[in-house]
Amino acid sequence: MSFKHKKKLGQHFLSDKNIAKKIVRQANIQSDEFIWEIGPGKGILTNELLGKTANVTAFEIDKYLWPILQNEFGDKLNLIKEDVLKSDWNSYFPVDRKIKIVANLPYQITSPFLFKIIDFQEHFNTVIVMVQREVALRIKAGLGSKDYGILSLKMQFYFHTKYLFTVEPHVFYPPPRVHSAVISLIPRLDRPVLKNEKFFWKVVEASFSNRRKMLRNNLKPLLSGEKFGALTETSPIDLKRRGESLSEEEFIILYRHIYNLQQN
Ligand code: SAM
Repeated sequence: MSFKHKKKLGQHFLSDKNIAKKIVRQANIQSDEFIWEIGPGKGILTNELLGKTANVTAFEIDKYLWPILQNEFGDKLNLIKEDVLKSDWNSYFPVDRKIKIVANLPYQITSPFLFKIIDFQEHFNTVIVMVQREVALRIKAGLGSKDYGILSLKMQFYFHTKYLFTVEPHVFYPPPRVHSAVISLIPRLDRPVLKNEKFFWKVVEASFSNRRKMLRNNLKPLLSGEKFGALTETSPIDLKRRGESLSEEEFIILYRHIYNLQQN
């Protein structure tokens, strides 16, 4: 039976084994390591992963792929027949072991997936994933780049990010319209300690809510009239600036100031 690729599941399968090998090489897998693959598809990457370690768990949502994967790998592969975004990851983590994620991610789940790994960060030691090139550029963008924004700040706050290599559309079937890129994310152990991380991200998100507006306008909805007045008089960061001009350190200074104003 021929397999119908589903666009809505981001099914662009790698057709070049050398790219699969190149991705797996980047992960530098030892034989006792635990790997999670997201969306094994027909198993081109899975096959390379199983060549390195016997501990491979793969999450695949498409029921038409389950028999193909089971025929190919049998019990060697721990296949989780679930939507990786809805899956209860806690029930699959090995005890006292960190996991490496290696995956060619389906494009439509990239952002929610990256946000989910932030929440479970302590369980992973390395994440090597293929994403759309445009997303990879945003993830690693530094201050001053046109790609710099919330995604850059968020991913760089929690991970050391690295752009590894670009992948051309023709190595997939069917080929996507855009280029892809493989990136690595290593959890950052030295990340700043904040009293209220959730509120920090509220400040960052508010600062970018309208890219063309100054901080003064974007931050207004965060505070009551009186406290906003106090902010305009005492802010350690010039509120005429735009969110995109602030570094992580400056956002932390701004957040601390606003947080203190709110507590008083
Ligand atoms: N790894 C294969 C390869 O490189 O050829 C397939 C990669 S393809 C870009 C993405 C895969 O993720 C597809 O097999 C698709 O069915 C699966 N997928 C899409 N959404 C998913 C989800 N929410 N949870 C688990 N798998 C998903």
